[in-house]
Amino acid sequence: TQRSQPPHNIALLPPPSVLGHLIPFIELAKKLTLQHNCTVTLIIPDVLSMNHKIPPSRPPHHNRHRFSPASLDGRSPGESAALVVDLFAIDAIDIAKQFGIPAYLFHVIATYELSLCVILPKLYESCASESRDMAAPITLPGSIALSPEDFPDLINETNSDAHKSVMDWYNKFREADGVIVNSFLELELEAFKDLERRRPGLPPVYPVGPLIRTDTEAESDRGSECVKWLNDQPPKSVLFVSFGSGGTLSVEQFNELALGLDMSGQRFLWCVRSPQDKAADEYLNSQSIVEDPLDFLPERFLERTKGRGLVVASWAPQIQVLSHGSTGGFVTHCGWNSILESTVFGVPLIAWPLCFEQRMNAVFLTEGLKTAIRVKENENGVVGREQISELVKRLMEGKEGNQIRRRLSDVKIAAGKALSREGSSTKALAHVVQQWINTK
Ligand code: UDP
Repeated sequence: TQRSQPPHNIALLPPPSVLGHLIPFIELAKKLTLQHNCTVTLIIPDVLSMNHKIPPSRPPHHNRHRFSPASLDGRSPGESAALVVDLFAIDAIDIAKQFGIPAYLFHVIATYELSLCVILPKLYESCASESRDMAAPITLPGSIALSPEDFPDLINETNSDAHKSVMDWYNKFREADGVIVNSFLELELEAFKDLERRRPGLPPVYPVGPLIRTDTEAESDRGSECVKWLNDQPPKSVLFVSFGSGGTLSVEQFNELALGLDMSGQRFLWCVRSPQDKAADEYLNSQSIVEDPLDFLPERFLERTKGRGLVVASWAPQIQVLSHGSTGGFVTHCGWNSILESTVFGVPLIAWPLCFEQRMNAVFLTEGLKTAIRVKENENGVVGREQISELVKRLMEGKEGNQIRRRLSDVKIAAGKALSREGSSTKALAHVVQQWINTK
């Protein structure tokens, strides 16, 4: 079917205060406006722009709106509309149903988590009735074994309100008219196949990614410092170390990481954040940290690593760093955006998950995609300096690193193809837009 007129009133609803979810929503908004001529309203609660260090770039031709209560009268006859929500805002799909417009989930994390949405609610029901062994691993599509200790946070807190909320989200996603995911077919093929097999019991799933940030000029000062330094380093020689927009280490772990990087003898660019007791503290309260993170570095660390290490405080221009030819490895907390970015730029990983769904992502990277080596905490929950040094050497100059690099070059090509004119992700998004037009 040919499109008659562009769809209007596509409302995108990311969750408040979650930068890692807002970024793909902004990129989706750009695609819908630039490639599909949609009129998009991106609903960003003010709390987010107040809390974060950099204002994420907005789509072109953006306007700020104050919202008055929605009214159906505002929609012209023949005009199409749709609501696209994050998993954390999934309850809002009821509003779309009230107005009779399509309600879509934009799933900005691994498609494998949709598999969990299908598997876990049933599992917990059967555990309650048949006292199944809760400690046994579950099998994800592609025969990936996932142990309960690698489940997303809150899942294992059965009987808690938080666990119940997560299960409610997991069940609610079935009511969406469709699920758009920030992934691509070749990246999570088995998960997509499995979700397709389960239809019509589930909504259709459309991989439209990898959508990564394309507009990074807001970071130019920090960017030029890092890029200038990277320009002087040999090709693929630098390990980038960063734990996402808010991941933090304990004081002891921070110290071990510093000493491990020092011991490895490898070049590194480390984005340091002041240590916290809990890894997720800064995500949950970004105002809490006032100290200079560089104050926590071991004595004479900067002197000892001068020339082969660059330390930047709190925020690094990650896209610029990962796309730079001198970058050869990435220690990541396994946030989904970071995984997609490493895929697009073909950078091998050391997986160091901290919280939320990151442990599950680490399992996917090591057991499924095979593009990472994972750290292992000791009995005190700390990754020791010797292990860090050894893994860094294995990734940067060992056989394993080269194997991962070869594997990633295929994945990188597949990512590019998915987004090409006739690629699977381009076609999937066009299909979604057409669905919206068809239901006006
Ligand atoms: N990011 C960045 N510089 C930093 C930290 C993070 O540019 O110092 C960006 C990174 O490129 C990614 C996003 O912030 O796009 C973090 O998302 P991710 O899903 O990896 O982790 P989260 O912050 O949600 O845990």
